[in-house]
Amino acid sequence: MTGLAAFDLTGRTALVTGSSQGIGRTLVEGLAVAGATVVVHGRDAVKAAGAASEISAATGRVAHSVVFDVTDAAAVDEGLSEVERLIGTPDILVNNAGVQRRAPIAEFSDADWDVLVQTNLSSVFHLSRRVSAGMIARGSGKIIQIGSVQSQLARPSIAAYSATKGAIVMFTKGLCADLAPHGIQANAIAPGYFATELTRALVEDETFSAWVRGRTPAGRWGDTKDLVGALVFLASAASDFVNGQTLFVDGGMTAVV
Ligand code: NDP
Repeated sequence: MTGLAAFDLTGRTALVTGSSQGIGRTLVEGLAVAGATVVVHGRDAVKAAGAASEISAATGRVAHSVVFDVTDAAAVDEGLSEVERLIGTPDILVNNAGVQRRAPIAEFSDADWDVLVQTNLSSVFHLSRRVSAGMIARGSGKIIQIGSVQSQLARPSIAAYSATKGAIVMFTKGLCADLAPHGIQANAIAPGYFATELTRALVEDETFSAWVRGRTPAGRWGDTKDLVGALVFLASAASDFVNGQTLFVDGGMTAVV
């Protein structure tokens, strides 16, 4: 397949975790615009169903919604059974659901460590294991993690978050090693700073917000739409020979000191 046809997702199915708001919400709509049948996911049923119907109305594509807590392995299994009833094994799995907790390391609580590891990392393992089994049976699939520039750049008070996002980089390479022989590609996108609910306190802190603009060669915060091109590329046949990679979409932040 050559040219723009390689980016076409018509006939493909996609699950984007944590897509009821923020980055995931923009990404799941981007996949629908590119032609995919999508499943919107979150913990809040009303919010997820609302997003799915907005996406159907805006794109004319089928958009379902499924609700489960990614930190609960049994709920993940049940939720994925529901996804399979709706669309079969997804052609595209985007592991996007994530949380942030901030505190200096000497004050960091066990509870915050656990929620970060379970949400940002263990969930990626549980979802990837289950979905990859179906992808192996089919002989194709795309698994895409949403990592972070914090996998490469440290800042005070986010050692635990950085640890989860750093682990995503190597987990993605490991998926490549296991799954490439089965025709499956696993890659990650590492966003820079984007204004969402997760970063609301940072956006509202003008000193920090100005630091982001100054530290980012593009001179601005990211707009969630800035991530769609990278995702459609990694979700489509255009990236069939790209595997185990982390693509930084950060306005140049990790390219310069
Ligand atoms: P938001 O807080 O705006 O959205 C998070 C989404 O994840 C929501 O849909 C939420 O659903 C869902 N979610 C959270 N916890 C769970 C859970 N336990 N089970 C199921 N769903 C859950 O965050 P962002 O859009 O900003 O972040 C999305 C991803 O991007 C995260 O992995 C984050 O680490 C990463 N990222 C974000 C950056 C940024 O600058 N914003 C930068 C780099 C990476 P619900 O509300 O229903 O719980």
